[in-house]
Amino acid sequence: MSPARVAGVIGHPVEHSLSPALHNAAYAALGLDWCYHAFDVAPGELAAAVAGARALGLRGLSVTMPHKEEAAALADRRSAAARRLAACNTLVFETSGTLAESTDGEGFLADLREEAAFDPAGKTCAVIGAGGAARAVILALAEAGAGQLLVINRTTVNAFRAAAVGRGRARVAREAELEGADLVVQATPVGMGALEGATRFPADPRHLGSGQLVVDLVYSPALTEFLSEAARNGARVRNGLGMLVRQAGLQVSLFTGAPAPLEAMWAAVGGKEAATRPS
Ligand code: NAP
Repeated sequence: MSPARVAGVIGHPVEHSLSPALHNAAYAALGLDWCYHAFDVAPGELAAAVAGARALGLRGLSVTMPHKEEAAALADRRSAAARRLAACNTLVFETSGTLAESTDGEGFLADLREEAAFDPAGKTCAVIGAGGAARAVILALAEAGAGQLLVINRTTVNAFRAAAVGRGRARVAREAELEGADLVVQATPVGMGALEGATRFPADPRHLGSGQLVVDLVYSPALTEFLSEAARNGARVRNGLGMLVRQAGLQVSLFTGAPAPLEAMWAAVGGKEAATRPS
């Protein structure tokens, strides 16, 4: 057996993260004597935490809010996606230095193609939101050849900034344009458990209907009100669990060099049905 290694996730807060369940299930399925922990790192403590993790011999870290931008800036090298997004969700501690990578976009695309049988090439894709997750999705869809990318967001100036990530394929759009989209991605936190000042919908779900695939990046609760309304209007729906599993799978491969044992990882979060038939 290869030597024991440690990896983890850093964020604030981080106690509800599903990453430990996903990674530990993967390492067990790969027969590795590894373990993965959640580390709550307060804002202002990131540089010390990353330097400490590296010095202690951790293999790598998943990175979540609020550290994604600063972690990318701290690394010695950045992947093309991490450079373009100026953010990362993964740090890999290599002998030559620390690599920042972003697996969210590739994870989203893998789920879309392999689990939802949707190829974005040439399609009209709409993204609601303009934060870190929205940008990763916009970049991934642009690189996958989406025909048109529509960006819809509460704050227009942020929508323009997010559309700029879309390699000339993305533009800021009006909510009513959702009606012409083949794919609609809900990439705001609206619908998550305890969101302060919460609204029910990030956009009017009356614009959604049959012939569309609607993906909500939120996975807790498994069925947001937005997704529920979209399904009621006839759209095919999927929550963010698949993206979560796939982006973690890519991290497992970066850390261990082995293909991700996706079946074991799905089992750790309730199985594939949890992404499409949320209860
Ligand atoms: P973020 O960077 O904070 O961005 C939030 C975005 O949502 C902004 O565009 C913001 O609009 C918009 N927004 C926030 N509250 C809103 C409201 N009440 N009404 C309308 N728009 C609102 O967050 P993020 O990191 O991109 O994460 C977004 C969601 O994706 C979270 O729920 C996160 O859990 C989820 N996520 C899922 C995965 C996965 O693997 N499934 C991965 C990453 C993230 P303004 O520009 O107007 O502020």
